[in-house]
Amino acid sequence: MSQRPIYLDCHATTPMDKRVLEAMLPYFTEHFGNPSSINHFYGWEAEVAVKKARETIANAINCSTEEMIFTSGATEANNLAIKGIAEAYFTKGKHIITVKTEHRAILDPCQYLETLGFEITYLPVQKDGLIDLELLEKTIIPETILVSVMAANNEIGVLQPLKEIGEICQKNDVLFHSDAAQAFGKIPLDVQAMNLHLLSLTAHKVYGPKGIGALYIRRRDPRVNIAPQLHGGGQEKGIRSGTLYTPQIVGFAKAIELALAEIKTENKRQKELRNRLQKQILDIEGVHLNGHPTKRLPGNINISIEGVDGAALLLGLQSIVALSSGSACTSKTTKPSHVLKALGHSDKLAYSSLRFGLGRFTNIEEIDQVSQQVINTIQSLRKAAIKT
Ligand SMILES: *Cc1c(COP(=O)(O)O)cnc(C)c1O
Repeated sequence: MSQRPIYLDCHATTPMDKRVLEAMLPYFTEHFGNPSSINHFYGWEAEVAVKKARETIANAINCSTEEMIFTSGATEANNLAIKGIAEAYFTKGKHIITVKTEHRAILDPCQYLETLGFEITYLPVQKDGLIDLELLEKTIIPETILVSVMAANNEIGVLQPLKEIGEICQKNDVLFHSDAAQAFGKIPLDVQAMNLHLLSLTAHKVYGPKGIGALYIRRRDPRVNIAPQLHGGGQEKGIRSGTLYTPQIVGFAKAIELALAEIKTENKRQKELRNRLQKQILDIEGVHLNGHPTKRLPGNINISIEGVDGAALLLGLQSIVALSSGSACTSKTTKPSHVLKALGHSDKLAYSSLRFGLGRFTNIEEIDQVSQQVINTIQSLRKAAIKT
């Protein structure tokens, strides 16, 4: 292949920004110390870098640095939140509420807890992918210890109303966790205003390095207890042991600093490109947008296409554009997307769906090239289907 396909799969991961790499490089070689080495210069140097990064990330969500625990990413942060809360609060109750459209990194820890005797309610979503707030409130019982609702969906991009959910949780005295892997750096997040008790973050969806993320854990009003899931050297207040990965932490902070500095202009730019692509593709007959039309991530489009086979469609597009039909983590399996199924789609329609994830490096020429190719491929597949 002489030319690499256009990358429109930014919900799976994003390319690292070169400015992030530059910030990280000295921490691999020159400033290589262990931030926990308190007796010498090399340790202090690394500790200062981690402290500064922690401040940047804490400021980005309006919490204190004491409340930020570094993890290997959002999967680990979600596991720590769900299992750590279950283990710390089971004497209060063994009921947890989450949503059918959550990422597997929420659903699988919840299913695991079911084997330990916890009761999990998986809330349905409405046709637009948003949860019904009245239903959420009705589902809370005295045994409920945690509500976990994602900020932005990784397939259909819809933004759940975190502030309203936070109010309901506060009123009913239950803890509120959100998986913000897709939202961090793209929509404003404020743990105070949204009344969040726990928030999962990751760097690689926002032009930072893979393998680093964080969990916010509230320490005041109320102080949230969490049972560690990794035991060892006692780093991160004993909540998450393991030598801190200084270069990744520095890169994470740089990525979020860049994202927030450019958030308004970048969201506007991506939304314009997204709307352009969306308009061209939705003009084709039998193509439907999945999820709420406006309450969504600026770079997201998810469509279902009647009368074409999803696998054939991806095959026809793959030399031109890198896309996926569902989430990267589940697209290896042949099951239809659980998110699209939750919207009420048949298996068949869920299979013939495409997810577009635009990003910081997507430009208008690429968008026009992709939309032309998508239109051509759909039309030729439909023609072929008529012939046979
Ligand atoms: C990508 C993603 C995750 C997993 O994050 P990692 O940092 O790759 O572990 C979890 N939840 C959502 C919504 C995601 O998009």
